[in-house]
Order: sequence, then C-alpha cells, then structure tokens
Amino acid sequence: MDKGEEDVSNKQVLLRDYVYGSLKETDMVLSTGTTHLKAPQGSKAILVKNIYLACDPYSRELMKKGFLDDSIKPGSAIAGFGVAKVLDSDHPEFKVGDLVWGMTKWEEYSLINKPEFMFKIHNTDVPLSYYTGILGMPGLTAYACFFELCSPKKGDYLFVSSASGAVGQIVGQFAKLMGCYVVGSAGSDDKVDLLKNKFGFDEAFNYKKEPDFDAALKRYFPDGIDIYFENVGGKMLDAVLLNMRPHGRIAVCGMISQYNLEQHEGVHNLVNFIFKRIRMEGFVVYEHVHLYPKFLDLTLQYIKEGKMVFIEDIIEGLESGPSALIRLFAGHIVGKPVIRVSSE
Ligand code: NAP
Repeated sequence: MDKGEEDVSNKQVLLRDYVYGSLKETDMVLSTGTTHLKAPQGSKAILVKNIYLACDPYSRELMKKGFLDDSIKPGSAIAGFGVAKVLDSDHPEFKVGDLVWGMTKWEEYSLINKPEFMFKIHNTDVPLSYYTGILGMPGLTAYACFFELCSPKKGDYLFVSSASGAVGQIVGQFAKLMGCYVVGSAGSDDKVDLLKNKFGFDEAFNYKKEPDFDAALKRYFPDGIDIYFENVGGKMLDAVLLNMRPHGRIAVCGMISQYNLEQHEGVHNLVNFIFKRIRMEGFVVYEHVHLYPKFLDLTLQYIKEGKMVFIEDIIEGLESGPSALIRLFAGHIVGKPVIRVSSE
C-alpha cells in the first residue's frame, strides 16, 4: 500500500510475548506504526479512533496462550474494551461519527473487523468513559452475574470481594438497591472508607489487615453468607466456604489472585458444598449480552436519579497503559482505571 494522505502514524502498545507468571511492564512495548484511515471496501469493517481504553484484568488474561481461543498474538496490539468514534465504515449499520464501545485494541486507530459485536452509544449525557465501566462490560458483568446467577432476595446476606473494583462497586450498589445486607473486602483503608461512605455498603474490611479470613467473615456475618460474589479466588474462597449458609449461592465472576500464578492454588473446604447444599456457578459476560438494553435502561436511570455512583481513575495517554495495568493488579488504583487516548 502506498503511503497516501489517509495514512497516519498510529501509536500502539504491543505484547512482547505470551505472559506466564507475574505481568511486568516490559511485557508490553510502545511502538508507532502507520494506519490507513479507511475500512477496506467489501470488508464490512469499521475504522475507529479510540477515545478511552479500559484497563481490565481481562486484557492480562488474553496474554496467556490459548486463553478462550482469543489470546493476543506476540507482536500484536493489546486487546481490550474501549470507547471509540467511527472514522470510516464499510458496514451498513455504522456511519462516520458514530460513537461505539466494545472490544478494540490498545492503539490510537483500530480496524474493527466484526463491528456487529460493538455497541452504539446513544446516551451521551453521562461521561463517555462510563462505557468502559458502569455502562460497559464491567457494569453488564455485575448486573448479569448478580441477577442471573445469585438468585438475590431482599434481606439476603451478600459478600463481595475486590469490592471497590469496577465490578465490585456496582454489584454492591445493585445489591443494596435490592435490599440485601452487603459487606465488601478491599485492599486498603481508603478503599474500605469508599465502600462504606460512597457506595453505601453496610460494612467493609481491609483483607490485608486480617490475618485470619475465616475469623473476619464470622465477625461480619455471624449468621453466615447467602451470596458470595467471587472476584478473587484463593484463600478468600476457602474461608467463604466455611461461612456459607444452607442453600447459599457463589457466583464465580473472577479469581484475580490466581491470574499471575503459574500454578493455581488449591481449595480445601469443598466438603461444605454437601453440608450446606451450596450452588457455585461460573460466569462469562459474553453469554449475557442480550441483557444489555435492559441493563442500560435501569443503570442509566439509577445514575440520573443519583441512586448509583461510579468511581474511575482517568489516566492520560496510551503510553501510561502498561504501568496502569501493573498498578491495577498491585491494588494501587482506586476505582476503574481508564486510559484517555484522545479527546472526545
Ligand atoms: P478489579 O476487581 O478492579 O481488579 C483489580 C483489583 O483486584 C485490584 O485493585 C486489587 O484490589 C484486587 N486484587 C489484585 N490482586 C489481588 C489478590 N491477589 N487478591 C485479592 N485481590 C486482588 O477488576 P474488575 O474489572 O472489577 O473485575 C473484577 C473481577 O471480575 C476480576 O477478577 C475480573 O477478572 C472478573 N471479570 C470477569 C468477567 C467475566 O465475564 N467472568 C467480566 C469482567 C470481570 P484490592 O486493593 O482490593 O486488593
């Protein structure tokens, strides 16, 4: 292809090689390529300018070879969710200027080959960045995993781990609106303060200050847990199993404590599944996209009525992406990290 007037330089964050064990900043490489600002004729693709990119644990999982058949190939741009503007379209349902959210790449401009998996953004009277968080994939995850898997009822006792993260903060607020008693765990006193004073959790604790998770859970749930919304796995899951009530539900949304381990930890207290007749179910958001319109209507209404809030940390520039992802895993970011790639 000749370099023409529609060719622009395209800053990208590339994956150096598949990642096993702890993710390092050097696993991601900043590079500048060239992109043709046209969707090829007959391709049904769209060419977008990325505005916000989500910093999600999911992007790190995609760096493992064979992850959900969807891994990022070494040398390619990191894949992740984002908000973007259509610059050119070869797809009948998308036109220049449309705002969309969905899977894109960590780069300034992306060619989206299957735009039918992107969502058009129609409501722009909320921050656009929310479509990487409360109105995007983490929001839908919280909604679908809570309402579809947890069978929540008013008065249920709910525990959510990594509660101040993108998914956790939303789950806790949906559960409060439903009339549940909600306790969250998080990794710093500031996050605990947010859970209690910003998101309206009944209680919260700093798990890093608790030498014995079983004792901590018994303190907050003397009568046991009805619903555990699992975000972390490992030792917390083991302690939760000792504290579930009969017919309790565990929705397995994530297990972030395991993602950087080469060998996953074992779980010891599985016998409680029998004693307590517990139901535990894994969740993948892709199976619930049909719920998006219903979720969006409800959540937009809650946001506009001031019944739900969302905390995000906007990080400037694509080049800050790798360090933000490392800081997310280290627990050093409060709320949802969002990378601002370009102006709206
Ligand atoms: P998140 O919870 O904000 O994840 C980052 C947080 O995890 C960190 O800030 C840290 O918070 C905590 N963390 C990191 N290492 C930990 C460890 N070893 N033990 C305990 N906590 C640790 O991310 P999110 O986007 O809201 O997602 C929540 C979970 O849902 C993740 O596990 C994610 O993979 C999963 N997820 C699943 C789906 C699905 O379809 N199944 C979709 C979206 C998300 P602290 O400071 O509190 O430790």
